Amino acid sequence: MAQGKNIKSVVIQNMVNKLNSIKLCSACLLGINCKYNGQNNRNQKILDLAKKEILIPVCPEQIGGLTTPREPAEKQGRKVMTKSGKNVSKSFLKGAKEVLKLAKLFGIKQAILKQRSPSCGCGQIYDGTFSKRVIRGDGITTILLKKNKIKVITEEDL
Ligand code: SF4
Repeated sequence: MAQGKNIKSVVIQNMVNKLNSIKLCSACLLGINCKYNGQNNRNQKILDLAKKEILIPVCPEQIGGLTTPREPAEKQGRKVMTKSGKNVSKSFLKGAKEVLKLAKLFGIKQAILKQRSPSCGCGQIYDGTFSKRVIRGDGITTILLKKNKIKVITEEDL
């Protein structure tokens, strides 16, 4: 009887641990085809982690109303511009706000986001010239999550 009780408490503790480790995750890292070119950034380390922890997939650019595929965009100062010069800052901000809403809804305190993306990048982003040059900076969603005390790491930190 006492052993049965112990097993039950271990199971409950495991469930609690799993719930405490819920994280947001860039959907493209989980293999979802939400990238601007209709492809993904499938990452094996992320897939392995998804077997142990609860990762909630989010794509701020899709949630912000942009289509897939879509024109590539990069941050240029505080704006986000497509390669042909369209200002898509509003969609990026809308996506970031919706992702924050999800984080608050589930009490999520951590996110693993795709490095260098204009939405998801953390510490590094492309420089706005569409030439693959990287500068220091955060994507629009990362900025908002960090402002709200949500810890952001990237797939490169795993
Ligand atoms: Fe991936 Fe983030 Fe870009 Fe969506 S916005 S495709 S989740 S990097």
